[in-house]
Amino acid sequence: MSNSAPLQATCLCRANVIQIPTNLPITAHVCHCTTCRTSHGTLFAMHSDLDALPFSEDSPPSTFRIYKSSPTSGKAYFCDTCGTYMFASYFYMREGTRHEGFCVSTGCVSLSDSYKSENPTVKLEDVLSIDFHCIIKDTIDGGAASWAGDWSKETQVHFHGNWEEPPMPAQDDAAELSRKHVYPTGRKELDGWCRCKGVKVRITREDEAKKYQAAVCACDSCRLGTGTDVVAYAWMPRDHAFFVTKSESGAEELKEWPAVWDDAAKASFGNMIFYESTPGKVVWGACGTCGARVFYQRYGRKVDGQDLVEPLAALFGADDTQGIMHLDFFDWIVSEDGVSWAEDAEKEGRAGIMTRNVNVMYKKWVEGLKSRA
Ligand SMILES: [Zn+2]
Ligand SMILES: [Zn+2]
Ligand SMILES: [Zn+2]
Ligand SMILES: [Zn+2]
Repeated sequence: MSNSAPLQATCLCRANVIQIPTNLPITAHVCHCTTCRTSHGTLFAMHSDLDALPFSEDSPPSTFRIYKSSPTSGKAYFCDTCGTYMFASYFYMREGTRHEGFCVSTGCVSLSDSYKSENPTVKLEDVLSIDFHCIIKDTIDGGAASWAGDWSKETQVHFHGNWEEPPMPAQDDAAELSRKHVYPTGRKELDGWCRCKGVKVRITREDEAKKYQAAVCACDSCRLGTGTDVVAYAWMPRDHAFFVTKSESGAEELKEWPAVWDDAAKASFGNMIFYESTPGKVVWGACGTCGARVFYQRYGRKVDGQDLVEPLAALFGADDTQGIMHLDFFDWIVSEDGVSWAEDAEKEGRAGIMTRNVNVMYKKWVEGLKSRA
């Protein structure tokens, strides 16, 4: 049965629930480029191409904020209330001509209510699949590409206008990058930043043998908060995580990570969006300029005897030269199922898009790291 809007896109706070007219089945691609990673705060982005945006570009919903990286670039549409990066337009060159493309963040996509009532047995994974991965070389160390799902279906293609470049490396190449990459020795700090560089985070350690845990989650909140099905966080003690801001003279200043995001703390980070998904308990931060997810904070949680703060691990891959997984700094941890909250993806009928494979492959990747050490 045909449905005029079989899909919908939803942000974390649900201020935006946008019906999407499209034909099914639809595909998603997994992009590992630095732009996508720093736009979402995730180890890779998942985007589904659309023929057009499901709203007028001239008068988009007022519930969005819009980011343009340059006067001639496409636009990112993210939620004004919670910061979730939901839609984008972009330009690419093909055969000498400039084309405009449109996409929705796949993690925000679900079957629309009207489609579900007409097709009660159809799951999202039946009509949405990954067709390819791209721009793995940007990760330097292979990033999450060696475990980001099963690549058996995809064909290697060029993307993001890089039609002149050679084809993307395959998943085996990503695993090889991961095995070969050597991180600089003696690092005491790591810097991370969002796409627009408006928010910069620094994490530190006194001892280079100290590693911080990094966790991978597939829960509904993380997915809706980033637009990507799998999300990674660094578990940092608050006294070793900072915001790097600029003083009036332009010098870098380290700002303490607030224990509580009260009105005064929020006001001192005027360029960010804060959203409390559980008031007084859980707060999400995003860049208010570009919409990148920056952190997640659960009050009352402790790590190393300190308040736990959770910057998005992918921010630390914003530097194009040092890789993104930072095995010297992060201890990638595996939950019982591999990826935490994989059952959410199963429940939402979307595990088959990537999470069912991600689980096993992520676990294998971490086990491989142990055997290397
Ligand atoms: Zn929202
Ligand atoms: Zn990309
Ligand atoms: Zn930004
Ligand atoms: Zn989660």
